Amino acid sequence: MSIANFRADLGDIPVEDRPRLVQQRSRDHYWYSPILKEKLENVTAEIVVSPRSVEEVKTVLAAAYRHNVAITPRGAGTGNYGQAMPLAGGAMLNLMNMDKVLEIKPDRVRAQAGAVMEHIDQQTRAAVGGELRFHPSTYRMASIGGFVAGGSAGVGSIRWAGLRAFGNILGLKVITCEETPRELDLVGKDILKVAHAYGTNGIIVEVEMPLTQSYDWVDVMVGFDDYLDACRFAEAVGHQDGLLVKEVAACAAPIPETYFTRHKTYVRPGQSAVLLMVAPVAVDAMMVFIDHHKGEVLYRSDTASEEERKRLPPIYELAWNHTTLRALKVDPTITYLQTRYPSVAHIKTIMDILGDELPMHVEVARQDGKVAFAGLPMVRYTSEERLEEIIRIHEENGCAVFNPHRYTLEEGGMKRTDRAQLDFKREADPLGILNPGKMIAWNDPDFDFESGRIWLFSGLAPAG
Ligand code: FAD
Repeated sequence: MSIANFRADLGDIPVEDRPRLVQQRSRDHYWYSPILKEKLENVTAEIVVSPRSVEEVKTVLAAAYRHNVAITPRGAGTGNYGQAMPLAGGAMLNLMNMDKVLEIKPDRVRAQAGAVMEHIDQQTRAAVGGELRFHPSTYRMASIGGFVAGGSAGVGSIRWAGLRAFGNILGLKVITCEETPRELDLVGKDILKVAHAYGTNGIIVEVEMPLTQSYDWVDVMVGFDDYLDACRFAEAVGHQDGLLVKEVAACAAPIPETYFTRHKTYVRPGQSAVLLMVAPVAVDAMMVFIDHHKGEVLYRSDTASEEERKRLPPIYELAWNHTTLRALKVDPTITYLQTRYPSVAHIKTIMDILGDELPMHVEVARQDGKVAFAGLPMVRYTSEERLEEIIRIHEENGCAVFNPHRYTLEEGGMKRTDRAQLDFKREADPLGILNPGKMIAWNDPDFDFESGRIWLFSGLAPAG
């Protein structure tokens, strides 16, 4: 590997090699996990390359192939399993200069991989009154390419499920890492070869996503004295066909009063909160439904003053992984898990066993046509052994865990690396220099694909 020779082949493509800046831009949000924080603290690339066009991406990948330089793609670096940490050094491929929205139709949008999701929506709203079906809570920073390559679900998943659901990604343009890099347009089944692969088998340069009707969503926060009542209400909202919502989350006390620093004035001590984004047309009906469930409306953005609305972050920035971020800002010993709770009874069982060691937070999302509890409980972290114990307690009680304290696709990425995906890496990255170390199956072809684990991204199962 020769970085100097690699660099010499890049022409006028912007590069950064000042060590401090390179180290900063070599990092994602791996520090969410105390375990990854320790393991990945010293990982850094040697150079950051920032192509501005598909042709420049091809130039970078051809040079990487010639000089055997590891390439780790990076969007905004908000991934929180260390997906974008350059384990083998080499070059970071920063895609944020490729940020254009290329085409908007009433039902779809095509954008370059580095386009920030909030910016995409601004343009689609203005052009056709549409918005992305769902987005991570890092909407205001994260790139669409990084979401497709490293994310899973988010705000809007109550209606549209996540990236794993067929129809939620329409097309990807991918560049291979070969002597002469190829430009491939993947549609239909081929999308699965690259989606949620952490950039291990191709660089995504364009993404086509479906749109849905956009709304001026109303943020609503509802209080409950009993967290299980909050969960029952949240689940019931998910089952209501006429109540148009984009976000439903339930956070147990003391999360709202302790960690929601700007919203806590609305919450009484001991109150749990349900966070909602409601379409204006559904607000009146939602108020009836909240009353029916004996909830207390703590805040609604449509009746708040201008000053309040300016002071408060959007409610989705209290949800998904932002709930943990809010807590981490107050208490740096907090971490979290990703779980699936089959029912309110399962949530109760886990809370009874773990108590305040596991402040509970669930997102209500649709999955395979059903309303499900995606758990993002916080953990008051003490040791890796205890965390493993907490995972075991979940599994023994019928609650699946997708471990966010692992940086490989298979262990942490909720992803079964199916043979088609591995085969595609052999074709698109024959030297294995794209994001090395993240796909176990590449280094260990005997890796057990068929193990009994539950995978969120399970590939295309044989029909019938
Ligand atoms: P990065 O972090 O830069 O990259 C993510 C992965 O994709 C890496 O493996 C990287 O190598 C690869 N990659 C990036 N760009 C490309 C490309 N063009 N081609 C190929 N590979 C590429 N995730 C969710 O799914 N839902 C959430 O609600 C959510 N909330 C979050 C909240 C917080 C506070 C934080 C810190 C993280 C959250 N995440 C969430 C994780 C993350 O923010 C999202 O997945 C986000 O979409 C990642 O986008 P990014 O541009 O930051 O990607």
